Amino acid sequence: MAQMFVAGEWKPAKSGATYPVINPATEEVVDHVPLAGPEDVEEAVRAAKEAFPAWAKRDFEERGELLRKGIEILRAHREEVVETLTREQGKPLHEAQGEFDHLLHGLAYYADLATKIRGAYQPLPSRLGPSYGLVIKRPMGVVAAIVPWNFPLTLMGTKIGPALVAGNTVVVKPASTTPLAALKVVGYLNQAGLPPGVLNLITGAGKVVGEALVSHSEVRRVAFTGETATGRRILELSVPHFKRVTLELGGSDPVIVCSDADLDKAVRGVLIGRFWNAGQACLAAKRIYVFEDVYDAFVEKLLAGVARYEPGEGWVKAERPRIRIGPLHTAKQREEVLGQLQDALAKGGKLLYGGRIPEAREKGFFFMPTVVAEPAHDSRVVREETFGPLLPIWKVRDIDEAIRLANDSIYGLGSSIWTYNVKWIHKAAQEIEAGMTWVNQIHYGYDELPFGGVKQSGYGKEHGLEALEYYFETKSVVVGDLE
Ligand code: NAD
Repeated sequence: MAQMFVAGEWKPAKSGATYPVINPATEEVVDHVPLAGPEDVEEAVRAAKEAFPAWAKRDFEERGELLRKGIEILRAHREEVVETLTREQGKPLHEAQGEFDHLLHGLAYYADLATKIRGAYQPLPSRLGPSYGLVIKRPMGVVAAIVPWNFPLTLMGTKIGPALVAGNTVVVKPASTTPLAALKVVGYLNQAGLPPGVLNLITGAGKVVGEALVSHSEVRRVAFTGETATGRRILELSVPHFKRVTLELGGSDPVIVCSDADLDKAVRGVLIGRFWNAGQACLAAKRIYVFEDVYDAFVEKLLAGVARYEPGEGWVKAERPRIRIGPLHTAKQREEVLGQLQDALAKGGKLLYGGRIPEAREKGFFFMPTVVAEPAHDSRVVREETFGPLLPIWKVRDIDEAIRLANDSIYGLGSSIWTYNVKWIHKAAQEIEAGMTWVNQIHYGYDELPFGGVKQSGYGKEHGLEALEYYFETKSVVVGDLE
């Protein structure tokens, strides 16, 4: 049975309670983990609070060095962590490897930044006597890092990397269904020599552990990734203590394919964008708007690509030219996608591919990659986030109609346009309401670029230099009486 990591030690829940982690491809138990309660949250936050003053004062070079050492230990355990991720999350091994490598890349980015954090010097008017100002950056204290199940490793890394190098201490709360690979990562990072209490992880239910963490008066900073509805709850819980909160929430990314697009490249971008992680990605190609003069050619190429996907267990490689697509993460998730598809078909959508559970699959939460054409613009696939391999596609007249429809969403996370027309590129960059627009590129979260949504996709940034700012208090210091 796996244990939690609190105050430098592996521990069970104080109550002794546990719960099973289920393999989404077989519905078998992968392992059991502690079912933590508020008393465990209390212990973890206390450990993080006690560890904070010494960690905050630690030489910034040493903090970066410890993280770098942790990355090397992790690298030596790549296979073990990747396999665990595939078994608990469902994603194919090559995707789990991609996620693991992305985690290391992101942590290394912040380890490198540890020595590049700067404040500012400001000359001041001498009205009150000669003086100058300093802008200094101080770590905040205990950070709660709340992570979803779709990318359990990278979305933990985007929080703990900047939090730790900035001098904060962290309590991680993974999704209840994907704690195992995250536990291994936290254990290996600690092996590098992090002082006890600097990096903790507790397992259990969002409603219990998550709420207790976010409500705790000693948690100064909450970094949350998850559903928009949960984000709303996190914000409510944070209000009494005026915590600093960043919210990386749901999305419904539009993709615009113009008449001059390289259709092969656009199709590849859409296939990866929609079917990577069985469509369970925040940044994903979720609504496709294709100029009418290239619509038929685009659809033909798209369907040829979709036909290559083969649902199956993530640890079994598909035979070329087939591409493995894993199961959905839970039965509930599959129900949700099925409901959205039925709604799309009831509202005029035409099923072009898939739309069902693959044959001979009694166990596992598999679903065929699915394409549906022209459902009404008020159907659920437009109004809601589709978190599965369901791809709706529409014909549009021109760039104005494409951008109007792209913006017709409560979400504003990612977006892309496929064209070489500089005016259309400019228009998309300026007018699409989203935190990010890719031009002729798949929807991928680069560690180097700030990333975060607008509208109901949340606020605050992860990745890039900008993310670090959210883990510091900026303080002004005036030094006077200089004569
Ligand atoms: P979720 O909101 O159900 O859970 C996210 C985390 O919050 C989990 O750790 C969960 O245990 C915890 N949680 C649940 N209820 C809580 C509560 N009341 N108080 C505190 N914590 C609570 O999300 P999910 O289903 O795990 O993840 C999928 C969602 O995440 C999708 O909407 C997806 O778009 C979004 N997402 C966004 C980004 C982004 O960067 N914007 C990235 C990945 C996923």
